[in-house]
Amino acid sequence: MTARIDEALAYLRSGGLAEVEGMTRVAFGAGSERVACSTDVAIALCMLASEAAEWPAKHSLRVAELLEANNRYLERARAADVENARLKRIIDACDWYWPEDDTSSDSCISYPHEFFSDGHVDPGTVVAISRGGVVETRYYAQLPPAGDSDSDDDFEVDEVTEELARRKVADELARRADYPQCMVCEKQLQKGDRYFPDVNGTQCEECAPTYQQMIDEPLGHVYLDDGEQRAAEDCRAQFDAHIAAGGKPTDSMATEVLE
Ligand SMILES: [Zn+2]
Repeated sequence: MTARIDEALAYLRSGGLAEVEGMTRVAFGAGSERVACSTDVAIALCMLASEAAEWPAKHSLRVAELLEANNRYLERARAADVENARLKRIIDACDWYWPEDDTSSDSCISYPHEFFSDGHVDPGTVVAISRGGVVETRYYAQLPPAGDSDSDDDFEVDEVTEELARRKVADELARRADYPQCMVCEKQLQKGDRYFPDVNGTQCEECAPTYQQMIDEPLGHVYLDDGEQRAAEDCRAQFDAHIAAGGKPTDSMATEVLE
């Protein structure tokens, strides 16, 4: 009971009801031993005092309710954490890929760029591929290796949006546009590379015909300026001149150098 009285008084002092105490002090200070007030004020004071007396019970009920609600919330949060961890393990273990528009079992691949390996996709085409079919979709594309690349690996694009993937392909193509690609193996040529100016395009040193091939198959050789068939004698004369200059029949005809 004492504790409840203390709580009730504390409520009166801290709850904006310090006026009750203040009036008492003023009455004592004025030399009066009585605190006089109107009936209305007396009723109001009684109501306030009653509220103060009831307050501890209401207060403890509220605290209990809050505690219980808080415990329920913590319980749910813990359960959600456990479930999230379980789902994350499943998702992380899901390391299989499908084209976004075809999740049939035949199309399942073990890594995104495997989709391009059989050459059925045109270089630079952006394809949406989904991990686990539904977990995450990213955008992929491939280009043949650039001539100035350190490796023979394809140029691979892997972006979070289709727009970013397209832009990456376009930027790379623009970068390569300064120099031609080999029309046979699609290798990107670069400054200083030897090439053979075929009438249909450019051939790299490896793909260009040899002098021997020129005389073996003179029908395949034409004049660059008008595309006319070269005469066999003309091919032979070029072959002989090459040998006379110390060349070999197996030398590549890619003798032009990219500036
Ligand atoms: Zn080539």
